Amino acid sequence: MGTAVVADKTDQKMEETLNLFTSTQVVIQEALRKLGYTDEMYELLKEPLRMLTVRIPVRMDSGEVKIFTGYRSQHNDAVGPTKGGVRFHPEVNEDEVKALSMWMSLKCGIVDLPYGGGKGGIICDPRKMSMGELERLSRGYVRAISQIVGPTKDIPAPDVYTNSQIMAWMMDEYSRLREHDSPGFITGKPVVLGGSQGRDKATAQGVVICIEEAAKKRGISIEGARVVVQGFGNAGSFLAKFMHDAGAKVIGISDAYGALHDPNGLDINYLLDKRDSFGTITTLFENTISNIELLELDCDILVPAAISNQITAENAANIKASIVVEAANGPTTIDATKILTDRGILLVPDVLASSGGVTVSYFEWVQNNQGYYWTEEEVNGKLRKALVQAFNNVYETAQQRRVNMRLAAYMVGARRMSEASRFRGWV
Ligand code: NAD
Repeated sequence: MGTAVVADKTDQKMEETLNLFTSTQVVIQEALRKLGYTDEMYELLKEPLRMLTVRIPVRMDSGEVKIFTGYRSQHNDAVGPTKGGVRFHPEVNEDEVKALSMWMSLKCGIVDLPYGGGKGGIICDPRKMSMGELERLSRGYVRAISQIVGPTKDIPAPDVYTNSQIMAWMMDEYSRLREHDSPGFITGKPVVLGGSQGRDKATAQGVVICIEEAAKKRGISIEGARVVVQGFGNAGSFLAKFMHDAGAKVIGISDAYGALHDPNGLDINYLLDKRDSFGTITTLFENTISNIELLELDCDILVPAAISNQITAENAANIKASIVVEAANGPTTIDATKILTDRGILLVPDVLASSGGVTVSYFEWVQNNQGYYWTEEEVNGKLRKALVQAFNNVYETAQQRRVNMRLAAYMVGARRMSEASRFRGWV
């Protein structure tokens, strides 16, 4: 890859991150104004309370020592300890981690979890590292941030390119530092180390619950509903499967290379069997359409579950779905949100639709604290109850205040941390 191409890619990433950060601030400000808070409250919430940057030395397999940069951001801890994942990615940067910690505060507020938002990240490429190198990096990160994290301070979890094995190493390192077993320090652990049943499918389950609630509002029956899912990775493939099993007709799916369309319904089980671990499937087929065409297919429910900025001012007028449920982070721009809402399309925003993961993470922490564990049915039942309530709170706020679902979700999400900050006398 030429240097110019790398520079372009980095510039694009920086611009996207800045957009994510500033657009989050814009909607938080609007939500606080609608709720009647003063500008002081916005000043408090527009940035994280705490941001730690760490340098982590790791002995690589070659014998050389490499220094990695990591971050931990804690947005607001007025409600309770902060909570949020740790991502390992070459393009992690400070503004992205800050913006994502603000999103976590909103998600926790929307589902009414007793947490504030946190997020962490390390600039690294785990696809090019051995297991030993990843273990040493994970343990080094915990040592570097140990002063500001803990079961009653800030509770990490998995995110992009981190998994239950990495959570297990981090939990072990933290327990050694504190000299006692500390399963409640981190969530997303293997079940044998105190992980929760149902955690791996929680995000997709949460999206499905939001789809079902949105369908009820629009009088659409899931049985036979035509569904299009963009992305066939962890989130997209699980939810395509859940929708297929619930009797919906999944007529379109896609990956980074193209999309598949069959108006009679795709054979989801076959596609799941054939997809690779990166969520690629379309390269096996000749008859494909583009991702742009996929988004504009005639369908009842559209679920963007891949990357950000997919529905924009350019294509929002061509979307034919009655319901759009954002499983991905930031797939619809602010302009497109307005166009879809004006056209009467019910848009379920990312901060609500993708909150299933943090909800079951909360259940994992509760189970760790009480030392008593629930069955998968119990976990799924509690998840359903929490998300149905969250969906309806946001929906009713949107109706009563005559605002779109995104602004309503931010209003519900910001209310609890604002009240907690006020009662504590911070503002
Ligand atoms: P993943 O890496 O497992 O899968 C991503 C999918 O998107 C793959 O099928 C990939 O081919 C496809 N894709 C990549 N670039 C694309 C492009 N330009 N156009 C169309 N498709 C493209 O990721 P995931 O875990 O499924 O996450 C997907 C989205 O959901 C992300 O926005 C993520 O932040 C969000 N999300 C995921 C979780 C989770 O628990 N997995 C939780 C919350 C939010």
